[in-house]
Amino acid sequence: MMDNGYDYDVVVVGGGPCGSTISTLVAMQGHRVLLLEKERFPRYQIGESLLPSTVHGICRILGVEEDLRQANFMPKRGGTFRWGANPEPWTFSFGLSSKFAGDAATAYQVERMRFDQILLDNARRKGVEVREETSVVDVLVDAETDRVDGVLLSGPDGVRREVRSRFVVDASGNKSRIHTKVGGQRRYSEFFRNLALFGYFEGGKRLPAPNRGNILAVAFDAGWFWYIPLTDELTSVGAVLMPEALDRAQGDREKALLDLIQQCPMIADYLSDARRVTEGPYGEIRVRKDYSYIQEKFWRPGLVLAGDAACFIDPVFSSGVHLATYSALLAARSINTVLRGGEVDETTCFEEFEVRYRREYARFHDFLVAFYDMHQDENSYFWKAKKVTNNVASEVESFVELVGGGSSNEAALVSPANGGLRGAAYQELAEMVAQPVQEAGEDRDLLRSTLARSVSKEGTRIQIQAELGESTDENIPVRDGGLVPSTDGLHWSSPSQSAD
Ligand SMILES: Cc1cc2nc3c(=O)[nH]c(=O)nc-3n(C[C@H](O)[C@H](O)[C@H](O)COP(=O)(O)OP(=O)(O)OC[C@H]3O[C@@H](n4cnc5c(N)ncnc54)[C@H](O)[C@@H]3O)c2cc1C
Repeated sequence: MMDNGYDYDVVVVGGGPCGSTISTLVAMQGHRVLLLEKERFPRYQIGESLLPSTVHGICRILGVEEDLRQANFMPKRGGTFRWGANPEPWTFSFGLSSKFAGDAATAYQVERMRFDQILLDNARRKGVEVREETSVVDVLVDAETDRVDGVLLSGPDGVRREVRSRFVVDASGNKSRIHTKVGGQRRYSEFFRNLALFGYFEGGKRLPAPNRGNILAVAFDAGWFWYIPLTDELTSVGAVLMPEALDRAQGDREKALLDLIQQCPMIADYLSDARRVTEGPYGEIRVRKDYSYIQEKFWRPGLVLAGDAACFIDPVFSSGVHLATYSALLAARSINTVLRGGEVDETTCFEEFEVRYRREYARFHDFLVAFYDMHQDENSYFWKAKKVTNNVASEVESFVELVGGGSSNEAALVSPANGGLRGAAYQELAEMVAQPVQEAGEDRDLLRSTLARSVSKEGTRIQIQAELGESTDENIPVRDGGLVPSTDGLHWSSPSQSAD
């Protein structure tokens, strides 16, 4: 037990990307962190398509970039969509945004069993005490102060024990009930009430190079399919069904999935020579209600919700792990600042976390509502992305910044090189535009039509931003009286302090 009567500074519930990230970022500041995970890793999880903000932002700060490189995950340049009014597939690349140009233009498709293990092992290496096969059964509340001050856990031996801590983080995902302890309701979206039916195939086709690692999303009358190449052989395939088509997932799951594939010609073609995996962790056909939701409250004194425990938004743009790890960073800043003591009070710190997390969630939510209007074409979607992010960049660049996880204007979410490399990035893009188009669905058409404007604008972009009052300077708070990231990126500061 520590001098102050607590066993730990922080107890983190859940060892997914959110829990591993927050525990590492707090332990890196020398605080005592206990992470409790109910499963033994590696364990299966869905959510395999990552964004550059996670790979080149959060994973860089965590120090696992090299581990990811060595894991040989499938490189993902962007996305290919057969979606909306355009009958032809269209492709975007993360490299279309200067925030993700160069090395940062490629994210990964990951087997979550391996990715989550890398993050959890790294947490251990950075000083987090990790206990697997240990479930949190309840949170403890100080009767006098009404502050959450620990958890009741059940270990591998089934024995229940109490552990006291200054903070408890609920990073236990969407299924656990710990979030009910924060107070307030979980509000489900009226709009996104879908169901996903998914499995794994070997020997499926690949998009032509250089886009063979892209996520492919194909709309059809019942909803849409994801087609995620995890390795050269293995593909994750899932049908996301709209509420009015839910009956198509009834009965035998294998038959339902195979029937749905036949109803979507492009996916049927891509899987025409493929074999469904029937053994091991990928052998099961799974169903998930991917209903979107958001908690009314994200925290109360002593308890904070992050990742899927706080909110979830429809997976079409693969934003889940980005929101989980970005919220972990925001919450870690709040906890680190309070534990260090002195500068900023607890309420202000956690309000900052909540405001920024809600803002990022709302951007995806508002954009996705428009994206599900199938009567529009991609140019209309790009325009909408610019509108919801209030971005002065071109429409297509605004879209790519949003779906790459970079529209929050956080230096922590982009590679440090990319802050000052806009000129080089645009040179690279201009060269891409100049090359001949080789494949249908290539993103060079997009580049031609929209980038030309943006390239010519780039020289004056900083000036335009100044004129419109938008700034890329993260030292400007996002609300009146708000905080900004400290220079080390792992605490909050008041803007006046950070300007010193
Ligand atoms: C159909 C579908 C497709 C998706 N596709 C993508 C995608 O392509 N890309 C993407 O980024 N995201 C995707 N997602 C979202 C992604 O799965 C989640 O957003 C992400 O896993 C959230 O991470 P997390 O750490 O918050 O929670 P999780 O990954 O769920 O981790 C929570 C952990 O907490 C543990 N736990 C639970 N209860 C307890 C307890 N009481 N005590 C101790 N431990 C506990 C669990 O065992 C688990 O390991 C998809 C989601 C769905 C439904």
